[in-house]
Amino acid sequence: MTFSIRATAALLLACASPAFAQDTVTLASVRAHERFLTSDAMRGRGSATPDEALAAAYVAAQFEAAGLVPVPGTAGYIQSAPVIRRRVTGPSVLNIGGAPIAGAGLASGAGPAVSGTLFVTGKTNARIPTGAAVLFTGPAAKRRTVFSAASKAGATMLITVADRPAEDTPPHDSVRLADTPQRPRMAIVTVPAAAVATLKSGSAVTLATPVVEERAATTNAIGFLPGTDPAAKLLLLTAHLDHLGVQPDGIRAGANDNASGTVAVIELAKALASGPKLKRGVMFVAYGGEEAGLLGSRYFGEHPPVPLDTIAANVEFEMIGAQDPKLPNGALMMTGMERSDLGTTMTAQGAKLAADPYPDQHFFERSDNYSLALKGIVAHTLSGWATIPSYHTKDDNFASIDLGFMTGAIRSLVTPLRTLANSDAQPAWKPNGRPKE
Ligand SMILES: [Zn+2]
Repeated sequence: MTFSIRATAALLLACASPAFAQDTVTLASVRAHERFLTSDAMRGRGSATPDEALAAAYVAAQFEAAGLVPVPGTAGYIQSAPVIRRRVTGPSVLNIGGAPIAGAGLASGAGPAVSGTLFVTGKTNARIPTGAAVLFTGPAAKRRTVFSAASKAGATMLITVADRPAEDTPPHDSVRLADTPQRPRMAIVTVPAAAVATLKSGSAVTLATPVVEERAATTNAIGFLPGTDPAAKLLLLTAHLDHLGVQPDGIRAGANDNASGTVAVIELAKALASGPKLKRGVMFVAYGGEEAGLLGSRYFGEHPPVPLDTIAANVEFEMIGAQDPKLPNGALMMTGMERSDLGTTMTAQGAKLAADPYPDQHFFERSDNYSLALKGIVAHTLSGWATIPSYHTKDDNFASIDLGFMTGAIRSLVTPLRTLANSDAQPAWKPNGRPKE
């Protein structure tokens, strides 16, 4: 590699200026946090487990080392949310039209007893009746769209055609917040392809699942960087730190989902705390319980350490450990970018952002930003590659992370976030941009 005159000039200029805050974000530091969070010792940081609590303690320690303080009026850097874990103890029995369906399996969302009226459709835009047990016979790639439509319509169950035998896909435990109102969750059930032809709309459907319930907790780590203007609204920078824990096929490390976003929050805390003081305060949160249904962020939204109307905007970091080839080089995608002016504000401040190329995937509604957006806060998620093939598999491990891209992405946001924290910008929803409960 040659050393150009232009590069030399840039280097001299850099040396002449006060230390750049993003220079605290190094590849070695990013790699070290990423390696720790994805190590076997963390056992995949399962939602609402002691492993998750340990990860939160690590993040809290990094916040303290960076110079953040606990939010004034709170007891410390840890927010613990009581949850109830429902463990499935035996096979579910799915009855349709009075007959049990052999080979049916529960995928998630189990209640001990769920019922509905069968509604068979192969289309994603069918009008789904309230209380329906929706049997979707269309392509697997469209299940996510039907899932959203069915849960909006108030369906009790989504039944899909199994890709593989049900005994190969044991259901995840379901976990819910103990003290917070729940949106009812649909049960997701699979049936073997051979059973589908005989099933007709209008039949009565029941699903019975043996379960036990246990009390547990999910853990958020929260750190605060005070601003110089106590009247200025805060910025909220967040990521979920939990993943899928230990599964029958081994540890799911969740290196991209979402050790990478957690590292971004740790590094941004260090970078923003190390430069000149900022006008706005900045709150940093690593949430637990995201994979179990956005639990940590929903608890945070119900038990905020500051009034929610003092938060100007929330940026969530999810899966920034690799870059989607569809995105411009070096850019992160912003979910729901068209819903508010935050993306254009941050772009004007030098952030490299692009719109989400996969609106069908409903990513805006699938991360912690959504818990805060439902409360009215302008809240979006930045991602590098949200449709990566390793998603929720054992292949989402340390070796798969593009540390160069990840470090560059974090560094590229330091100046735009400093600018936003020093500005009077009041991010706002565009007409119809704010999501409704
Ligand atoms: Zn995930």
